[in-house]
Amino acid sequence: MKTIVLASSNAHKIIELEEMIQGVKLLSLKDINFFEDIDETGTTTNENAEIKVRAVLEFEKKQGLAFPVLADDSGLFVNALGGEPGVHTARYAVDHSDEANRKKLLFNLNGKEDRTAYFECTLCYADFNEIHFFTGRTFGKISEVERGSSGFAYDCLFISDDLNKTFAEATADEKNSVSHRFRAVQKLKEYLKNHD
Ligand code: IMP
Repeated sequence: MKTIVLASSNAHKIIELEEMIQGVKLLSLKDINFFEDIDETGTTTNENAEIKVRAVLEFEKKQGLAFPVLADDSGLFVNALGGEPGVHTARYAVDHSDEANRKKLLFNLNGKEDRTAYFECTLCYADFNEIHFFTGRTFGKISEVERGSSGFAYDCLFISDDLNKTFAEATADEKNSVSHRFRAVQKLKEYLKNHD
């Protein structure tokens, strides 16, 4: 089985991506003793995913490791806000405070007619120092009020065009069949299938 380092220490993300990709073993940053902070200073999900991949590649080089490296970066892009929160999605109001972030989004959209938005996920994958990007998007609208109780972060505000309900009103399977992450993963899987 192919072993890939995922540039993340989030155990939940590792399990979720391993299940989605199937047939690969993902190592976390902890597994390779990488404990540095990576500054996500990019202005796009591509840039941020690449920053993470390059930091891990550099570390691997110093340690004499040669695992392929994968990183993901996601964000919510709201058209009436010029693409905000975008790469600042996790820290829009307060770093990783989902409730404060949602409140800020609703406040900034107050009175705006156009509530269209999309989630974007970019996977950056490096094998033998060749870097590849796989991007998935899913489209919808920002609800006026929170709806549903499953999912996380902005799910209760995102009315999916595909599902006609918020991601938090959808089952995990429904969300996973149309999500930005799922769509990016499908592209990565196709690549891995052809580049063993
Ligand atoms: P990350 O780069 O995948 O960690 O995503 C950055 C931020 O985007 C997260 O902290 C969430 O606030 C938001 N986000 C990404 N994907 C989703 C999703 O599927 N539902 C809700 N919020 C999401």
